[in-house]
Amino acid sequence: MNRGSLNIVGLGPGKDNLLTQEAKDVLLKATDIVGYKTYVRRVEIRPGLTLHASDNRVEVERATHALDLAHKGAHVVVVSSGDPGVFAMASAVFEALEYGKPEWKQIGISVLPGITAMLAASARLGAPLGHDFCAINLSDNLKPFSVIERRVELALEADFAMAFYNPRSKSRPNQFGRILEILRERAGEDRLISFARAVSTKEERLTTVPVREATAEMADMRTMVIVGSSQTRSIDGTSFIYTPRFLGKREGQVE
Ligand code: SAH
Repeated sequence: MNRGSLNIVGLGPGKDNLLTQEAKDVLLKATDIVGYKTYVRRVEIRPGLTLHASDNRVEVERATHALDLAHKGAHVVVVSSGDPGVFAMASAVFEALEYGKPEWKQIGISVLPGITAMLAASARLGAPLGHDFCAINLSDNLKPFSVIERRVELALEADFAMAFYNPRSKSRPNQFGRILEILRERAGEDRLISFARAVSTKEERLTTVPVREATAEMADMRTMVIVGSSQTRSIDGTSFIYTPRFLGKREGQVE
């Protein structure tokens, strides 16, 4: 009987103290760390720990490797940034599990949550996600760009605030410009848009502008883009933006 384990862990947005205690505990007991090289680098090296760093875009191969190691008795931790269930490795592991070797279903698998970039960014900005919102991955790696455009249009129609992951990369520098066009056409030039780059790291940069001033170059692969709903506003004299919990006006009311 194998006694291996597989924990799928979120490392949070960057800063060490935003890593959960639960994640720290399993990292200390691990024999093997599997993940994209940038994230594996964040794990402290110690004797008895093997690091398996791979390139981007090989998620299912990486997941298969992790399941195989755990099945042979290793204590494997698969690492993602932020939360492992948000556009990250947890789904890839379950995909590999569903279609993989039947004996893998005996492995003790746990998913440990982490602070996702969207929540780290929104906390730094104030409370832009204080009312209904949605999260959209702008990468067309796993879905056609037409689906992304349609989802953004429908989210605007429903007046959700939006959190965009993977807004822009070197391999697709122009699509984000098209998303900005949709925002200007359908939400109006005054809609607030925030760019939160490398949140909780030394390179953190936060910018909020009306969409008329936004350019595609304001986003890159380390940026979380947050688009306000029609109700999202900034508070004069502060750097905070927030979305009220109620719809419509409630002037002068103190709670
Ligand atoms: N699983 C991760 C998301 C992976 S997708 C999570 O839950 O956060 C990668 C995208 O996340 C990046 O392109 C960027 O949009 C966002 N991201 C990750 N870390 C970030 C950070 N520290 N600051 C801003 N955005 C970040």
